[in-house]
Amino acid sequence: MQIHRIFGLMAYSYLIETATGLFLVDGGVASTGRKILARIREIGRRPEDLVLALVTHAHLDHFGGLAEVQEATGCAIVCHPSHADILRTGRGIVSPGLNVFSKIYERIARMALPKLTLPRLRDIVVFDDGMKLHRFGLPGRVLYTPGHSTGDLTLVLDDGSAFVGDLVQGRRIPRLTPPEFSVMAVDEPAMLAGWRTLVESGAKVIYPGHGAVVTLDEILPVFRRAISRAEREAG
Ligand SMILES: [Zn+2]
Repeated sequence: MQIHRIFGLMAYSYLIETATGLFLVDGGVASTGRKILARIREIGRRPEDLVLALVTHAHLDHFGGLAEVQEATGCAIVCHPSHADILRTGRGIVSPGLNVFSKIYERIARMALPKLTLPRLRDIVVFDDGMKLHRFGLPGRVLYTPGHSTGDLTLVLDDGSAFVGDLVQGRRIPRLTPPEFSVMAVDEPAMLAGWRTLVESGAKVIYPGHGAVVTLDEILPVFRRAISRAEREAG
């Protein structure tokens, strides 16, 4: 199995190549669609080899390119049940920022959203929490990990590779910025539960929507700090 990381201006998409087929995690912004299709050709595969495109959550920087990808490949789209309608109707949603930078991003995104045309996707499939994907040729399972948004999905492969969307953010500038858990959230306690799900899932290597790939060991201290802070706040 091979994992191809595709940079899409704002966020990363991942193409997972197995002996039998291709699986995509997230579709970046609109211009990412053709990058994904180009990468499929570069690795010597055909567009129709793409079986499923999994959307970790329906934020604009994670599914903008998928209309183009779906048009060329005919793949089905997998998402959390809370985000199926958003993907069908191309509605835009933003989560509240938790720090200075993410609050600025939130404001910009809220101002930009009404002016953006987001794709309307078809063939949307909703999987249950914990559903195994082996029958599709992908040795792994989907987990519900909402909190960053109302509908976050995490894909954990049997080998410990975890595709987490914005549940974890890698180092943005190597050596300088630390990896962190999400800097935006609609529900912080739920997000804490999502992190716990991730930590307990057998995940070893974290493939985030933003920043560098990190190991679970690198992110564990951040997780432990968040837990003790939540415990302090709860008294
Ligand atoms: Zn997001």
